Amino acid sequence: MANIFGIRRSDPPEEQISISDQGTDVLIQILVLAASALAETDSQKRMAVWLAEHDATRGTGSIGFAIADMPWDSASFEADRQFWVRVMDAASQKTGWNTLNFRPNAERLMPMLGWFRKRFFRLRAEDINPDALADWCDEMDDDDPTLNGFPRCRQHGVYLTWCGCRICGN
Ligand SMILES: [Zn+2]
Repeated sequence: MANIFGIRRSDPPEEQISISDQGTDVLIQILVLAASALAETDSQKRMAVWLAEHDATRGTGSIGFAIADMPWDSASFEADRQFWVRVMDAASQKTGWNTLNFRPNAERLMPMLGWFRKRFFRLRAEDINPDALADWCDEMDDDDPTLNGFPRCRQHGVYLTWCGCRICGN
């Protein structure tokens, strides 16, 4: 099955990108590696965790998301938007790939990273879903890593989710 990504869920198909389950899994792993390496603020770390929560436990074909529905904090939107552009560049430079026990297919991933980079580059504050952050936080348990100092995986350096490490768990 394929996973659909776009800026908004309501965008027409030609504005979206469709990525296979396997491709999505690798894409999320390399983005989580890059985002964990670059995140400086709580809001950036939180978004890295949110991304890491996107794995196959959600069911095949349901790992895709709309960029608008990421947990953006409107107070730091512009800095966080630029952060995600830098994450795409860092992923293109294979940040953290040395920690993986497989070799991601760079030729396949680069066009996807380019697609996302362009979307983050163009994203505007009015595109974001203002309720996404609060909705996500409402679902967290008290022991969620996001609320407990953002622990990282020792092996991969990525921020942990309530399921553990996105990469070890694979
Ligand atoms: Zn790990």
